[in-house]
Amino acid sequence: MILPDAMLGVLGGGQLGRMFTMAARTMGYQVLVLDPDPHSPAGSIANEHLQAGYQDPQALEQLAQHCAAITIEFENIPVESLRILEQHCPVRPSASAVAIAQDRIREKTFLRDHGLDTAPFQPILSSDDLASAPQALPLPGLLKTAALGYDGKGQVAAGNIDEALSGFETLGRTACVLEQKVDLERELSVILARSVDGATAVYPVAENIHEAGILDITVVPAREDPAIATQAVEMACRLADELDYCGVLAVEFFHTRDGKLLINEIAPRPHNSGHYTVDACLTSQFEQQVRTLCGLPPGDTKLLSPVVMVNLLGDLWTGGTPHWDRIFDNPRALLHLYGKRQARAGRKMGHFNCLAPDTGTALRMAEDIRKSLATPTG
Ligand code: AMP
Repeated sequence: MILPDAMLGVLGGGQLGRMFTMAARTMGYQVLVLDPDPHSPAGSIANEHLQAGYQDPQALEQLAQHCAAITIEFENIPVESLRILEQHCPVRPSASAVAIAQDRIREKTFLRDHGLDTAPFQPILSSDDLASAPQALPLPGLLKTAALGYDGKGQVAAGNIDEALSGFETLGRTACVLEQKVDLERELSVILARSVDGATAVYPVAENIHEAGILDITVVPAREDPAIATQAVEMACRLADELDYCGVLAVEFFHTRDGKLLINEIAPRPHNSGHYTVDACLTSQFEQQVRTLCGLPPGDTKLLSPVVMVNLLGDLWTGGTPHWDRIFDNPRALLHLYGKRQARAGRKMGHFNCLAPDTGTALRMAEDIRKSLATPTG
């Protein structure tokens, strides 16, 4: 076990790294953040901020020398850096698990090979692959870059083969997956923490509502058929076992109108749809990241109250600073801001959690607060 006062390293210093840092420091650990951004949200509250790239040999050397264990805040960290660090101290999740999660072709192939359902897909490495795709995979579909896509970025709609071909050009002829568009009943996620010896703690299933490909609202517990929710938990646990995973794992699901449960994607880290755990669960997903990183058993994931989480995107700042008093006026609403200096459209700036005796009340509260936050323009 790695105990308090040890130095923990995190690659990536955005909001996820910041909330990891807060949890680790609350528990008495020290944190070293590696992030090239001088205004990194995590760097500003860490014990040390190494301002360098993720492949900088000197920075990796310093991490290796000073850290008792190392984790990541997002999956787009070069796997080679993780492999170098693994030679010096525990890196959790492992480089091999991150390698699978950071590439949609590897990820979906892994899922298919292990009998975990996804939307029908086909790897696209050239326009020739596209020309033959529609026979195997009826369109409409979505063409998604294999790497570096997030929040709906790096994907285009492909209603027909011509759109798919021009989309492939728009995406820079890079490796992609063509995925069949499925009819969604609901989107769900399961977040779990799995320790190095396989002990697993699972959070309640979350229901996610997206706007333009970006998570907008999370409702917990999900308003879902209990049989589907149980199936989602079973699939997520089986996936974690197959990966021999250590750390926090998020699994996003599509519940389709024809009753299927498909895995959309996996994230080898805490997830935006788990931000509710900070205020509404006995142990937050970030504390779980610390615990699994340090070889401690996962904490209790008990949900203390129904909750709705609302993301705050940069668009909200268009007319000026939002009316934060509208959140503070409500004793059961909790504001989290990430300390980002510039509000840009679509940029995640913060979120708030609304706790209530039932999800319907929490949703109404969330919508009422959200409507009152924006400063009118003009
Ligand atoms: P992704 O970045 O792949 O998670 O996609 C972002 C969002 O786009 C998802 O949360 C869905 O709302 C939507 N989406 C992605 N793939 C599909 C699909 N194959 N069928 C229907 N909707 C999709």
